[in-house]
Amino acid sequence: MAVHRQTFTIETKGQVQAIDITDKVSDAVRKSGLKDGIACVFTPGSTAAIVANEFEPGLMRTDLPAMLERIAPAEAGYAHNERWSDDNGHSHVRSAAMGQSYTFPFGGGKPLLGTWQQLILLELDIRPRTRDVVVQLVGE
Ligand code: ZN
Repeated sequence: MAVHRQTFTIETKGQVQAIDITDKVSDAVRKSGLKDGIACVFTPGSTAAIVANEFEPGLMRTDLPAMLERIAPAEAGYAHNERWSDDNGHSHVRSAAMGQSYTFPFGGGKPLLGTWQQLILLELDIRPRTRDVVVQLVGE
């Protein structure tokens, strides 16, 4: 059993931006030399999320942002904004709801994802950010 970790960086534009990171994560799995195991993709930030879903414009640009607006409307009142005046209370709530990591199995040196299942970084903050994405692999 071995542990491998690779980190890459993504420049984002701000809310709500979906970025397909499947190729970068697949590269990390391939470069590790591990064939079978568990992968965790994680972003160390509290205004972003990692999800797996079909990366297509209807979902990513319309349906998902609409759902996030229903869960945590941008213009609602947030105690976080009163405390810090950074106006991204909704970004934090959305990130907490969506989750900041995603775990999946890999086999044969490749992520075992469905055909219509991509790994996606969601930028939920109100301004451009530089995001680290950590891919931690445990396997053999
Ligand atoms: Zn904040």
